[in-house]
Amino acid sequence: MSVYIDSSSHLHHDQDKNLVITCPHCQAVAHITPSAVPHFEDLQLYRPRQVGLVYLCDACHMPIFLRFTVRVYGATRIELSPQFTEVERAREKFSFTYVPEDVELLFREALACFSQGAFNAFASMCRRTAQAMFADLGEAGKLRLFDELNAVRELADIAPEIFTKMRNVLFGAELDQRSLLPLVDGYEAGIMLEVIKDLLYEAYVRKGKLQQAIMVRRFFLDETGSHVAPLVPADSAG
Ligand SMILES: [Zn+2]
Repeated sequence: MSVYIDSSSHLHHDQDKNLVITCPHCQAVAHITPSAVPHFEDLQLYRPRQVGLVYLCDACHMPIFLRFTVRVYGATRIELSPQFTEVERAREKFSFTYVPEDVELLFREALACFSQGAFNAFASMCRRTAQAMFADLGEAGKLRLFDELNAVRELADIAPEIFTKMRNVLFGAELDQRSLLPLVDGYEAGIMLEVIKDLLYEAYVRKGKLQQAIMVRRFFLDETGSHVAPLVPADSAG
């Protein structure tokens, strides 16, 4: 992959057809088009280590700022590293209905850290979120979460080294209070985010939705005077 600014301040990006991000304004996963590139002469004069480019979101046309690290200041071209930093990142969202208040408070901060690209702060807040969940769900709930984490590993085919880190972040302090948090990068944090959202969903949201739906059904049956057939739990049916 090659990205460079030529001596007439034009940007050349051989992968620009595939340049897609989650837009921080409209939240769409959209292609972005460059709209402002710094002057070649200015960059040659000051030689900053990083340069900022402005793109337009193809979906909503709002500006998107990306920061690239300079690889080489050549005589006729300035080569940039293809990896870039999104200066404004899309905010991560989660629906907190049914999630206890203290768990919500901690996981909201975890999401804020993730959105800011503070991935190790995010991992720390994930550990605190997990601890709040364990305190709320008790020992049996904690074991259920551990099983759930193992199930997710197979479902999502998570690489063993990432899974080990994640287990260490979420459960490490339960086994050893002094267990240090491993360092995580953006890719690992992204996987951890999806997994912890799934754990929260399993622990609270799914149950809450089901209870709510059953309550509504009972209410309407009571209203119409019919009687409710007893519910037989699935595991005692056979
Ligand atoms: Zn947009």
